[in-house]
Amino acid sequence: MATLPTQPLILAFEEARRVVQQHALQIDPGASEPINLLKASERVLAETITADRDIPPFPRSTRDGYAVRSGDVAKLPAKLKIIGEIKAGPEDRPRSINLGETYSIMTGAPVPSGADAVVMVEHTSQQRDFVEINRGVTRGENIVPQGAEAKRGTFLLDRGAKLNEAAIAVAASVGKSKVEVFVRPRIAILSTGDEIVPVEQAPGPSQIRNSNSYSLAVQIQRAGAEPVILPIAPDEPECLHRLIEQGLQSDLLIMTGGVSMGRYDFVEQVLSELAAEFFFTGAKIQPGRPVVFGRVGHAKAATESSPSSRYFFGLPGNPISTMVTFELFARPMVEALAGIKPHPLQFLHAKAKADIEVKPGLTRFLPAVLTGEYECAEVELVPWHGSGDIAAKSRANCYAVIPPTSERISAGGWVSILPHW
Ligand code: AMP
Ligand code: MG
Repeated sequence: MATLPTQPLILAFEEARRVVQQHALQIDPGASEPINLLKASERVLAETITADRDIPPFPRSTRDGYAVRSGDVAKLPAKLKIIGEIKAGPEDRPRSINLGETYSIMTGAPVPSGADAVVMVEHTSQQRDFVEINRGVTRGENIVPQGAEAKRGTFLLDRGAKLNEAAIAVAASVGKSKVEVFVRPRIAILSTGDEIVPVEQAPGPSQIRNSNSYSLAVQIQRAGAEPVILPIAPDEPECLHRLIEQGLQSDLLIMTGGVSMGRYDFVEQVLSELAAEFFFTGAKIQPGRPVVFGRVGHAKAATESSPSSRYFFGLPGNPISTMVTFELFARPMVEALAGIKPHPLQFLHAKAKADIEVKPGLTRFLPAVLTGEYECAEVELVPWHGSGDIAAKSRANCYAVIPPTSERISAGGWVSILPHW
């Protein structure tokens, strides 16, 4: 058996997650670059974005109707003189109303001074230059005051925001046709195992095609980083050592396989030869128990200016274990390197479609299908043959999360759900 580096350090799920998050908080995301707003989708903002003027820049009508002084329509029906029309768009001059007057006004147009409400057109009838108002309004009704959404200079988006459609719209609304985003970190993927062959190669009867490098590449991209796929490492310490050192040139190294207790599981041995610190060497979860998290070169970095330290994950090789452990533990580190602020893992809830029975003791993340609509979400486990069953996983759309204290969830009981990202 390969020599183990330290006493095994097996943590409960929440504890292992907390350890990762503590390290993620200390990550410096590094360099940034400008990018055109239309290319910035899902990138991570490296600057703060503030309002360049009041939003809205003028008191804005939220309805088509008539701009009025609310006092003028206290008694109904009220007859007001129409002195013009205001539509959304460039204004040639500021408008105002006096006692007994009104402007016909369109949605999105600036409310004239003197007016303090807009009566919806549906509650009026126009007769030539006059309009009859049939329903009263309160002060401020159907008007968004100038600066109500944001005052000039207010922070709208912080560094570390992932640019979704709303954030991109905010940037556009304050005139940012380019934004500063963090450069995507490079994450090395190293699949290990004598039995693993590249996808292009015809496998022998007992060989397995490398699918983990592919699933990880997808998860890494989704987390905001760029995957760097290394050649498959054999279960042989010298070659593994060389490839691990190569992987440590990237911003983070993610390995798969070789972290169990087998005679040929050399990953931890090689990492300890590199003076790695291990933060945990297992988590009480299923699938994915032998997951390893650590750092190489930290002590060295403290005394020399370079090289700086590198974090690594050793994920178990079974494909579903690899996917689950990436999402639970590696993802927060990748996101932190990409500049995204650490955030808690949040579960949704759905009702069990059928009884779920498990052995207690581990937090389980079981491939499942979420069905139902609106408030009737239901979840059902996908039948599977364990953590190697990629086909079963591909039929799932979430994980059902079963706490370590649960032995049975009866049909109709609440189940925590981790959706697919
Ligand atoms: P290990 O964690 O090294 O004991 O690997 C457990 C099992 O996962 C192996 O027997 C393989 O069947 C599978 N496996 C390991 N690495 C990969 C990979 N890169 N792609 C697909 N399956 C893998
Ligand atoms: Mg292996």
